Amino acid sequence: MELKLNYIDGEWKEALGGGKREVINPATGELLAYTTESTENDTIEAIAAAKRSFYKTRQWRDTDGQDRSDMLLKIADIMEKYKDELAKLDTLDNGKPLRESEGDVSDAIHCFRYYAGLITAPSGYTYEVNNGFGKMHSYTVAEPVGVIGQITPWNYPLLMSVWKLAPALAAGNSVVFKPSSNCPLSTVKLFEIFEEAGLPKGCANLVLGSGGSVGHTIAASPDVDMVTFTGSTKVGQSIMSDAVGNLKKIGLELGGKSPNVIFADTDIDSAVEWAMIGTFFNQGQVCSACARIYVQEEIHDEFVEKLVKKAEAMTIGNGLDNPDIGPLVSESQMNKVLGYIEKGKAEGAKLMCGGYRVTDGELAKGYFVRPAVFDNCTQDMTIVKEEIFGPVCSIVTFKTEEEAIAMANDTQYGLAGAIFTNDSARAIRVMKEIRAGIMWINCCEPTFNQAPWGGYKMSGIGRELGVYGLEEYQEIKQVNINLNKGVLGWYEN
Ligand code: NAD
Repeated sequence: MELKLNYIDGEWKEALGGGKREVINPATGELLAYTTESTENDTIEAIAAAKRSFYKTRQWRDTDGQDRSDMLLKIADIMEKYKDELAKLDTLDNGKPLRESEGDVSDAIHCFRYYAGLITAPSGYTYEVNNGFGKMHSYTVAEPVGVIGQITPWNYPLLMSVWKLAPALAAGNSVVFKPSSNCPLSTVKLFEIFEEAGLPKGCANLVLGSGGSVGHTIAASPDVDMVTFTGSTKVGQSIMSDAVGNLKKIGLELGGKSPNVIFADTDIDSAVEWAMIGTFFNQGQVCSACARIYVQEEIHDEFVEKLVKKAEAMTIGNGLDNPDIGPLVSESQMNKVLGYIEKGKAEGAKLMCGGYRVTDGELAKGYFVRPAVFDNCTQDMTIVKEEIFGPVCSIVTFKTEEEAIAMANDTQYGLAGAIFTNDSARAIRVMKEIRAGIMWINCCEPTFNQAPWGGYKMSGIGRELGVYGLEEYQEIKQVNINLNKGVLGWYEN
């Protein structure tokens, strides 16, 4: 069985301690590969390589913007060549239906192309100023931050890697990257693509290993200038305190428990379909899943009946066969989700469908859970308050717009939210009141490379994607040019 290695300073390397970790297919429980198990010393070596690349050899940092853009386009073209392999790797490793993996790969390719274009676009500001010292031109220059540590989760293995790597590299930084040890395979392939494209040595380094060891070393290192992290709010908090030592810049994309507010004046069939996407896409393992569903009283019965009918009809199976829903990512994630379902029942929510492990035939070997819809939920229930990260939604009924807004905002999170209504004034009013970084009106879940992604409150700090996503990886320098001739005469009185 193949052993996947670290990529440090342009070399594929086994971890110094010689340990290895299994990568399991969640649809079958079978071993897919081993990864080398890195520890602190491997991480320090990778950070040193990134530091050399940025501060000494400077090859990538000093590459002209146009050439950097060309390299990102080359990476995108090579990804295109391997797109079927990349999609299959994510499905094997994570379990998601193949069509979803194919969508992720397409988005990832376009993300490289988007940032390849963006870094050739005009940027910065120029002002003509005079604050008593005579006329000057003041202008801004964007520069790379330096050595960037990046840590990702398992739910969108390739896409989460690319959302970080594409803008960080576009800006000219050097990177130390740690993917989730649950689903590292497509990211290893991406680094093979970097090598094939000829990305200069040392500017992109991959370290495979645990969060507690590799992730913590990256976040705490005084030689890392910035750490960007996508994952749970709890680990985000520990990254923030690790980063304190050298006051490194941080970017945090954290958990969520997003509301979906459905008003009686909406098109119910469309709202039901989007609610399915908002809840069950990627097996519900989506940070922005709108799984807290608030339905206005008048349409409650019809909405629930239609949603349950659709959830019951979902096909479930191995992601390679393109079912509606695949397995959860791991046995422990499945047990966590089943634990929440038991808690929902115990606290009095009404389970309308699903909510159990599927053990028919071959599926018994994997980690399959039938999509669950809970009705009669209240704000104080654990399944309404906590992020489940599985195919489970909770339905709460509301009477008025004010009540819906209050309940939508009654959470520590603020990643996303959705509103369904045919009243456009109401849509805008409610959108403005919900404290979240991403809002969908009459839709739910789609993301775009052009639009900023990130959360309010405990869902994170900073933004990925779009112009903001590039700026996160840049320092802005203010430059002032004196336009006056000769002596200013300031001290001549
Ligand atoms: P996680 O927080 O357990 O792990 C994320 C990454 O952090 C992994 O690579 C892990 O190895 C590493 N890690 C763990 N402990 C660490 C430590 N002490 N120091 C440094 N790194 C450490 O999250 P997960 O279970 O992989 O992913 C699910 C979570 O990710 C959910 O909460 C979800 O909402 C969130 N997420 C957020 C977004 C977003 O854009 N806001 C996107 C995807 C996922």
